[in-house]
Amino acid sequence: MPCRGYPGRVPYYICPRCKERSVDIDAHEGFSTQAPACRHCGFGFLFELLDDYYPAPDTGMVVTDQDRRVLAIGRGVFELTGFPEADLMGRDLVEALQLSDPKPVELAREWGVRRLGERLSIRTRGGHEKPVVADVFPAYDADGGLLVALTPRRGIADNETPESDSKTESGSG
Ligand SMILES: [Zn+2]
Repeated sequence: MPCRGYPGRVPYYICPRCKERSVDIDAHEGFSTQAPACRHCGFGFLFELLDDYYPAPDTGMVVTDQDRRVLAIGRGVFELTGFPEADLMGRDLVEALQLSDPKPVELAREWGVRRLGERLSIRTRGGHEKPVVADVFPAYDADGGLLVALTPRRGIADNETPESDSKTESGSG
């Protein structure tokens, strides 16, 4: 039996697609069996969070079911992974992206705990290992899925696209 609604708590929602956050102030006005849709991009459902969460501009979000299979992919995931949406849908997220450590995802699944700031790497479609920070959120509804937010880690040595070229100093006459 789903246990929705936490007394004295305002639920936070985030859209996995466009990452817009919302506070559901209408939650007490009427209960619906369906999760609310995003008012910004029209995406079909919002993910409920225990606390407000601020994704980075280049964070990509993936929603999975309780078997880690990808249900939805947000903006930024393609840029991050190189995989188009169709290549990830329905696949085991850990296998598809070859997460360097499945533990954060497993802990979130098994214990329903958030895992924030996990330093992992993924393998992009092109076969490159890419360091990311993963934030994993368990769903609070009966479906028991996960929201996995992946943010590229910057400023590390193995970044394969150095940006120094455009900033070469010039002007020594
Ligand atoms: Zn949205």
